[in-house]
Amino acid sequence: MSCAFDMEHYRELLDAAKAGGYEWASFDRHPRAGDLFLRHDVDLSLEAALEMARLEHDLGVRATYFLMTESTFYNLRSHVGLYAQRQLRQWGHAVGLHAVYPRAGLDDRFDPTLSWHNPDPGYMTAPVAGSTNVMGDVFFAPALYRSDSNQRWRHGCPHEELARGAFPWLQLLTHPEIWVYDGDTMGQTMRAMLDAERDLGLERLAADRIDLA
Ligand SMILES: [Zn+2]
Ligand SMILES: [Zn+2]
Repeated sequence: MSCAFDMEHYRELLDAAKAGGYEWASFDRHPRAGDLFLRHDVDLSLEAALEMARLEHDLGVRATYFLMTESTFYNLRSHVGLYAQRQLRQWGHAVGLHAVYPRAGLDDRFDPTLSWHNPDPGYMTAPVAGSTNVMGDVFFAPALYRSDSNQRWRHGCPHEELARGAFPWLQLLTHPEIWVYDGDTMGQTMRAMLDAERDLGLERLAADRIDLA
């Protein structure tokens, strides 16, 4: 099995977790044996988040999507932003806030759970009033955490350990755009995303009554 960052291996990763007997948990209670906290920080692309969410739904997988209200790359109040929030809920996923420090403005669009975007160590693990911080003491332990940040597993792809149930429980962070768009490195993947977004941008312009002739 090749550990590519593509949707084929993402599916294998989810299948491995099922084979290992893990159950899908969200950040609303303390971890129990066999929990898999599947977390997605949506940094760049709602379209990629929707594609990943649909696959998970088809496979009976429940994740928590952390969405930004002050993203440089998407607008949660746009048509696609509102659609994404509705659709994620409809597919059974939880929705938390991917917050930019120090603003933890949780409103009724979000479950009371938060992850910080690009956090500094100084506040990364600190408690947040009225919300669970996914990197706080309850949900974070270095040995029980894997992340695909910048298209690199710092401690290896967890599919094999998941399949044999090696983690008592796990918080698994994946970023949808890394898996949905092709590329052997983060740089390649980002360029593939931008290429796809050019077409999307042309569609948006046409929908906005811009004459593209
Ligand atoms: Zn793998
Ligand atoms: Zn982020």
